[in-house]
Amino acid sequence: MIPALVLALSLGQVSSAPYARSRADAGDSSSQCLFWTVPKITWYQSSVGNPPTKPAGSEFDAVRRSFQNWQEVFSSCGNLSMAEGGTVNDREVGYEVGGDNRNLVLFRQRRCSEVAPSNDSCWTDDVCGNKYDCWSNDSQTIAVTLTTYDEISGIIYDSDIELNTPGFYFTTSDGPLCNLPVTTTHCVSTDVENTMTHEIGHFIGLDHTTYLGSTMNPRAQPGETSKRTIDQGSKDFVCAAYPKGKPSVACIHPTTEQTLGRKAALAGCSSAGAEAWLPALAGWVLLAVRRRRGAGA
Ligand SMILES: [Zn+2]
Repeated sequence: MIPALVLALSLGQVSSAPYARSRADAGDSSSQCLFWTVPKITWYQSSVGNPPTKPAGSEFDAVRRSFQNWQEVFSSCGNLSMAEGGTVNDREVGYEVGGDNRNLVLFRQRRCSEVAPSNDSCWTDDVCGNKYDCWSNDSQTIAVTLTTYDEISGIIYDSDIELNTPGFYFTTSDGPLCNLPVTTTHCVSTDVENTMTHEIGHFIGLDHTTYLGSTMNPRAQPGETSKRTIDQGSKDFVCAAYPKGKPSVACIHPTTEQTLGRKAALAGCSSAGAEAWLPALAGWVLLAVRRRRGAGA
């Protein structure tokens, strides 16, 4: 099993249902759904925050509010809690067997094209983002959630969220839409809470949907704050996939043989065992709807 980075949106298979669960093979509804099985997920923020956001430090609270938006839904009908682990110095996303593997939120402050030499092997290995602490994704992408999971069981091990600071002016105010250049803190350009509430949807196993009014719509307008409010379809996902007082719900139930094999590999924790269940990776992106940057108006 080779980890593969899949940008679900690029496949052009976006659901129009009230909610769509993320799948082990993005967009393939016959493959396993992704979900957490631990009762408590701890998430962390990079201590760097996002220096351009004003007032300074308000981005930390906006990220916190985004997790709280989902926590309210989980408290009413779900089976897990999301606990804040505080700020950390980590600047790496993804999953390492035997590593710390914190679930991390971080704003990348520069583009990889500006800091990673074009002949660096990180480009072919798809690791420039971690190596140079930079935004390695498309410039039109606002944020990416990178989830590491077991392809057979669908169990999520780790999920990290990166936000594109070189591409977007992240704000935390309620409105109105910012005029450019931004000279006030009281306007919305790309809202942190709007972005993060969407990304946390991916974090817990939601894929995109074009369903009207969904937090999981794959695009966001400048000035948008509507995704802060979690829609009924996304709430229904929490109640259905993470039922209160019961185990999380898979879409496909592996055979006993597969399940036992997986458990053995996990329990072994040897290098051979680790190779045997090398987790898969998937990335989901939130795209911007906007005019080209730099163009007037
Ligand atoms: Zn998305």
